[in-house]
Amino acid sequence: MSMDIRTIAEEFGTPLYLYDFDFIVERYTSLKEAFAGQKSLINYAVKANSNLSVIAHLARMGAGADCVSIGEVRRALDAGVEKYKIIFSGVGKRDDEIIEALENDILLINLESEAEMKRVEKIAKELAKEARISIRVNPNIDPQTHPYISTGLHENKFGVDIDMAKWMYVYAKKSEFLNPVGIHFHIGSQLTKLEPIAEACGIVADLTRSLRAIGIEIKFFDVGGGLGVVYDDEATISTQEYAEVIIKATKGLDVTFVCEPGRYMVANAGFFITKVLYEKKSGNKRFVIVDGAMNDLIRPSLYGAYHKIETVEKEGEESLADVVGPVCESGDFLGKNVMLPPLEHNDLLIVHSVGAYGFSMASNYNTRSKPAEVAIEKEKVRLIRKRESYEDQVRLEKVCMEWSDES
Ligand SMILES: *Cc1c(COP(=O)(O)O)cnc(C)c1O
Repeated sequence: MSMDIRTIAEEFGTPLYLYDFDFIVERYTSLKEAFAGQKSLINYAVKANSNLSVIAHLARMGAGADCVSIGEVRRALDAGVEKYKIIFSGVGKRDDEIIEALENDILLINLESEAEMKRVEKIAKELAKEARISIRVNPNIDPQTHPYISTGLHENKFGVDIDMAKWMYVYAKKSEFLNPVGIHFHIGSQLTKLEPIAEACGIVADLTRSLRAIGIEIKFFDVGGGLGVVYDDEATISTQEYAEVIIKATKGLDVTFVCEPGRYMVANAGFFITKVLYEKKSGNKRFVIVDGAMNDLIRPSLYGAYHKIETVEKEGEESLADVVGPVCESGDFLGKNVMLPPLEHNDLLIVHSVGAYGFSMASNYNTRSKPAEVAIEKEKVRLIRKRESYEDQVRLEKVCMEWSDES
């Protein structure tokens, strides 16, 4: 990416998220082309990075959206995603969310339990609508990823087992208010091995065939998201291999493939720019204290995630340091044991591959305002989210600070 980080940091301030929109185009194109000759829908998983401009950028290329709350459905619609390309997933949908999804006539509501199916049926009946649904099957496959982002084992809270899924399809088929047109699974995130994907696809394809044998026509075969990316030096799966495995497992089934990539689309497109405040030593331990923190980027603290950290135009003899933020938690670090040259106040650091689950997991902990977000596309730079102010943070509290006479 050709850009002057220092100029951008000066213009927009730090800490700052910066996204390479051209890279996102490459990612979308690579996955779409891997399914060339097939019917496919790439539904971007909005939770990875929910910025409206990011979703709109993908929507312009033809992407749909995979949403896990009605807020995400609204974001997708606001960003210009076609309603017939929106899927609503998640284990705990509220009544108001189901109502709004049905009223918006989105592509699919993805069901994760029998109780939820009955609830959707009841609400669809009240609205005199037919709900297009898919059922999330839990194939009980170990995706061989971090336990917090593993979702395809029976011990995880997601989906239903094969027998329950069959029963639900038969029930839905008979219902006047449910139309079972999709099947779905999502075994985990940051998948770097093909075997678990192949195995899960095989199991769900078999189920699809047996449903077809009893007259339940599944049109959408949704393989979820999870495609892994390189953070360090891990081996990952190519989109070509990914598509081949899926196409092979579903041989003979005439379906539209739905993929729900989040991380794959945006992780490597994102950079977190933070400014050095101080250096300090504690015994032999070197700390670089920066203006970005765990509230801006929680992945290192939450998952022990590795993100490469680089300096900007800085040289000198390198030594190991922990890069830490100002938040009052020992878990507040962006990197541990990073080789860095001596640093001074106002030097910049770039934290790599933070486009997914970076800003979207940011919080206001320690009353820190959320960072600004900036996009770069064809050498042009644009602010896509203003830096939050203190006033933005306290607005909803300031309007209710007094006991009123009535209460
Ligand atoms: C989180 C999620 C995704 C996206 O996962 P990535 O690992 O970011 O690709 C896709 N589908 C569902 C149902 C999810 O919950």
